[in-house]
Amino acid sequence: MELFETIDQTEHEQVVFCHNKDAGLKAIIAIHNTTLGPALGGLRMWPYATEQEALNDVLRLSRGMTYKAAVSGLNLGGGKSVIIGDPATDKSEILFRALGRFIDSLHGRYITAEDVGIDVNDMEYVFQETNNVVGVHQVHGGSGDPSPFTALGTLQGIRASLQKKYGNEDVGKYSYAVQGLGHVGFELVKLLCAENAKVFVTDINENVIKAAVDLGCEAVGVDEIYDVEADVFSPCALGAVVNPDNIDRFKFKIVCGAANNQLATDEMGDELEKRGIIYAPDYAVNAGGLMNVSIEFQGYDRERALRMTRTIYYSIGNIFKIADRDGISTWKAADRMAHERIEGIAKLKSPFMGQQHRFPGRDRAYENGK
Ligand code: NAD
Repeated sequence: MELFETIDQTEHEQVVFCHNKDAGLKAIIAIHNTTLGPALGGLRMWPYATEQEALNDVLRLSRGMTYKAAVSGLNLGGGKSVIIGDPATDKSEILFRALGRFIDSLHGRYITAEDVGIDVNDMEYVFQETNNVVGVHQVHGGSGDPSPFTALGTLQGIRASLQKKYGNEDVGKYSYAVQGLGHVGFELVKLLCAENAKVFVTDINENVIKAAVDLGCEAVGVDEIYDVEADVFSPCALGAVVNPDNIDRFKFKIVCGAANNQLATDEMGDELEKRGIIYAPDYAVNAGGLMNVSIEFQGYDRERALRMTRTIYYSIGNIFKIADRDGISTWKAADRMAHERIEGIAKLKSPFMGQQHRFPGRDRAYENGK
């Protein structure tokens, strides 16, 4: 497909191709939508097989950020950037500073952060060239590891889902199957155990399983997790874990976790609905990390970040209300909620409010022939 045709279909505002021969930089910055505010989204470094693959990834991810910010009530737009390269061999100071200069040239339309293949040291180099970076080291006023906030947000999503399904949100009364005990999953398990809930866990890493068992969890095999008789399935590892091969095995009543892109296809969201299983849309559930970094704009404040993360309870509740109102699946309702907010704010902003003259007057110097 032609480049402009692709961008036309994905409705991006701006796509910037960044090249610096000396630095070996080949990067793409995609700004999807800035109706609500500056486009914020992480920087990913990946050895993409083709440039088309890198473009597809950055377009898909930046669009996802627009939706995540919109349903979360944040005044942020959606953006993302990718560097084509191998994080193990291709990193250098010049590379990241070169990208930082491109980001700076966008004058705040795009704000970057860490993503796959990038660490806090790489961000330090980007930060040398632009202020439009969040998630820098705490000594620069950064917000640190977002995972505990993502886990807390996931718990809020679970509470909203319990309320919808059972009419109460007594976390300790129900059972959970948590897939993945990494940065987010393990924090979530700690929160669930603190409520005395029954928790089944799985991971490919034996050490983290042992730590969860020490907290009182029951370990199951990597594939057995789909057969567990638990009320809530909480994917916190991989994408596409709700798919045609395993959905018939689910005895769960709720799917609510932090992993991105949990549904292998949109139809899987409809299938969950048909089976009476409530699906809390992943990008709304896992917004705690984004909320946490967004606080950096006003000067980081942990209490504010915690407060904001708790609002995920209401955003998930509102998605369920839209699903009921319009008779649609929850994944569709989340997209609709994002669209409604973006369209509403765009209309709100459209009348001229008199802050500045649209027509500053003719250039008299020119008219006088000077
Ligand atoms: P992580 O890499 O720290 O943890 C992932 C865990 O999953 C690891 O312990 C890994 O061993 C385990 N795992 C891998 N394959 C598995 C399998 N087949 N079965 C069971 N476990 C398996 O990642 P994380 O930061 O905890 O993020 C988890 C998910 O949440 C990812 O999808 C991520 O994109 C998403 N997410 C994370 C954040 C955040 O703040 N960290 C924010 C938004 C979304």
